[in-house]
Amino acid sequence: MANQLRWDGRVVVVTGAGNGLGRAHALFFGSRGAKVVVNDLGGSAFGAGASSSAADKVVEEIRAAGGQAVANYDSVEFGDKIIETALKAFGRFASLQFFNNAGILRDKSFARMTEEDWLIIQKVHVYGTYKVTKAAWEVFEKQKFGRIINTASGAGVYGNFGQVNYSTAKLAVHGLTETLAQEGAKNNIFANTIAPLAGSRLTATVWDEGMLKLMKPEYITPIVAYLAHESSTSNGRLFELGGGWAAEIRWNKTLGHIWNTGPTFTPEAVAAAWDKVEDFKDSIYPRTNRDGINALQIIEASQKAPENP
Ligand code: NAD
Repeated sequence: MANQLRWDGRVVVVTGAGNGLGRAHALFFGSRGAKVVVNDLGGSAFGAGASSSAADKVVEEIRAAGGQAVANYDSVEFGDKIIETALKAFGRFASLQFFNNAGILRDKSFARMTEEDWLIIQKVHVYGTYKVTKAAWEVFEKQKFGRIINTASGAGVYGNFGQVNYSTAKLAVHGLTETLAQEGAKNNIFANTIAPLAGSRLTATVWDEGMLKLMKPEYITPIVAYLAHESSTSNGRLFELGGGWAAEIRWNKTLGHIWNTGPTFTPEAVAAAWDKVEDFKDSIYPRTNRDGINALQIIEASQKAPENP
């Protein structure tokens, strides 16, 4: 097809590519010319054990379909080894891009959550995303090109009962993305976050058959593939995806209220104007920290000046 988006000559690393979303992404990129690194530790959805078979099966599938792929079995905590596999197999200065997708769950109410449940989730999702990205960053800067897709979750954006460890980690993943997007832009390194919804072993225990069918991982892949293509200009964005649907989520801030900081600045004065702090009637959509500060100056000029002659 003349207008087909392709990844010929590009190396695409997908972490946690032995199952679910990562597997769907890896198979797709293998079919579109990419040299794929299929990383998977091969443990349980709970984060126990390890095995090479999950990654090996996906590599076999890609090769059987005529594509190129290598396996890597390291935990994302050793992200440098994953990038090393990519560079060894496909060339030291190969054009590289990747998906931080690996993940596990340790769902428990906060009262029942152990220190281990907390730490393992931060280690896999936050530290793992950092480690793979850190190892690839120098390559990205040299090649003046990079596309990073980090995988968060609606649980991180909205919170979710029983997932305090996971929601903390997943929102952190988006914080990481937002700053990488700003630091990478000058070198054509773009980073975006997805909050997917898909039928996989992580959702199989909570969704019914109908929902699992509607929300196949394959219904997310074309969207992340577009975002990962060199032609895509999205950067630092957060998208919620599932079942063939995509929508952007962004920060929305009220104009708020500024109090006169003289002797009248009391909790009672705060209470009297609190509805303005929570009133979204007039609001802004800041993209950077600076946007927030600029907005404060505008509000200050419009609200505070008359009160402080
Ligand atoms: P999945 O369990 O089917 O696949 C995750 C894969 O990651 C597994 O093959 C697993 O072996 C691998 N993995 C786990 N820990 C690893 C580690 N330390 N190093 C390397 N590989 C590791 O799950 P999925 O639903 O496809 O999830 C993929 C990503 O999407 C995860 O980050 C998950 O948190 C996120 N997510 C999924 C959903 C959903 O609806 N399925 C919703 C929100 C977020």
